[in-house]
Amino acid sequence: MPNRERRPVMGWIFFLMLAIAPLLGASQPAFAQSAQAELKIGTRVLPPMVVQNGNEINGFSIDLWNAIAGKLNVKTTYQTAPDVRSLLDLVRSGAVDAGIAAISITAAREAEFDFSQPMMSAGLQIMVRGKGKDAGDSNPLADLTVHIFSKAFMVWIGIALMMVIIPAHVVWLLERNHPSGLLKHPAYFPGIFDALYWASTTLATQGGDMPRHWLSRLITVLWMFIAIVFVAFYTAQLTANLTVQQIQGTINGPDDLHGKKVAATRGSTAVSILGELRANVQEVASIDDAYKALDEKEVDAIVFDAPVLLYYAANDGKGKVQLIGQPFRKEDYGIAFRNGSELRKRVNNVLLVLREDGTYQKLYDKWFSSK
Ligand code: GLU
Repeated sequence: MPNRERRPVMGWIFFLMLAIAPLLGASQPAFAQSAQAELKIGTRVLPPMVVQNGNEINGFSIDLWNAIAGKLNVKTTYQTAPDVRSLLDLVRSGAVDAGIAAISITAAREAEFDFSQPMMSAGLQIMVRGKGKDAGDSNPLADLTVHIFSKAFMVWIGIALMMVIIPAHVVWLLERNHPSGLLKHPAYFPGIFDALYWASTTLATQGGDMPRHWLSRLITVLWMFIAIVFVAFYTAQLTANLTVQQIQGTINGPDDLHGKKVAATRGSTAVSILGELRANVQEVASIDDAYKALDEKEVDAIVFDAPVLLYYAANDGKGKVQLIGQPFRKEDYGIAFRNGSELRKRVNNVLLVLREDGTYQKLYDKWFSSK
C-alpha cells in the first residue's frame, strides 16, 4: 500500500529533473565564458609610469600590466593610492592583488612583499632649477661667504701667514743693528712688529719703509715680485671659483645636498637616501607638488626616480629644470605582491613572454623613446 503511493511522487521528481536538465546544461558553458577572472590592481599616478587623463589611466606600467592581464586572460580594476606607502599598504592588506607603478625593489620591502622579477631599471637622480636667463638664484655674495669658510681659503691664509712671518724674521735679524732703518726698536719685542708690518705691506704690494742692510733691500725687492705673483694667483683662483659656482650652482652631486632643502615623494626610497645624506627633506604626496615647489623656489632640488625626472625634463619641465650628473643610486622597479601570492609566478612567466615577443620593447619605446 505505501509503495503504491510513493511511486507517483518519485515519477514527478524524475520528470522535473528531466525538464530542468537541458536548462542546467545550457547555462553551464555560458557562465564559464562570461566569468573572466578579475584582478584588483593598486597603482599611483606618476608620469610616465602611470598617467592620468581624465578618467582614464595609462602610462608604461599600466600598458605593461594590461598586456600581462591580456596574456593571463583576466580583467583588471584599478585602485589608485596617493603615495607609494599607501600603495604598498593596499597590497599588504589584500585590498588589491598586486601593486604596479614605480615601486622600487628594496631589501626592506622584499622582507614584507613578494616582488616580480625587475620590470624596469631605474635609479635616483638630482634635479635643480634650470640655469640661464631666468636662473637668477645664484647669489655672488653667498658664494663668497661659502668661499671664505672653505678649506681652500684656510690654506691660502696659511701660506700668506708664512709669507709674512718668515721674511719678517729674516729682515729683523738683518736690521736689528741698524737703529735708523726699518726697526724703530732693536729688541725682538716690539721690533718684530715693525718687521711684520714691513712684510705685510710688501706682501700686499703696498711698499713701505726701506730697510738699511743691503741683503734686506734685496729681500724686499724679491719679496715684492713674489707677492705680485702670489696675489695674482690667488685672485685668479678666487675669480675662477666664483665663476664656476655662478655657472654650475652649488649642487653638483649627492654630497652637496647636505643641509639643502630637497623635495621627494612621501615614503619613497629617495626620502631615506636624503636622510642619510643629511638633507632637509620636504616630503610631498605627488611628484607634481615637488615640481611646483622647485619652480617656486621653496626647495633647492628634487631627488627622485631618474625615468620620472627625465620625462618631466623632456616635456613639461623643458627649459625650467636641469638634471645633475647620472643617477647616483641604482634601483629596479617590480610588481609587488603579498608574501606567498600564487599570482607572482604566472606574472613572472608572462613578463618573460612579453620580453621575448617584443611587446615589452614596443611599450618601452612608446613611453621612453626620446622624442
Ligand atoms: N620608486 C620610488 C619608491 O619606490 C618612488 C615611488 C613613488 O613615489 O611612487 O620608493
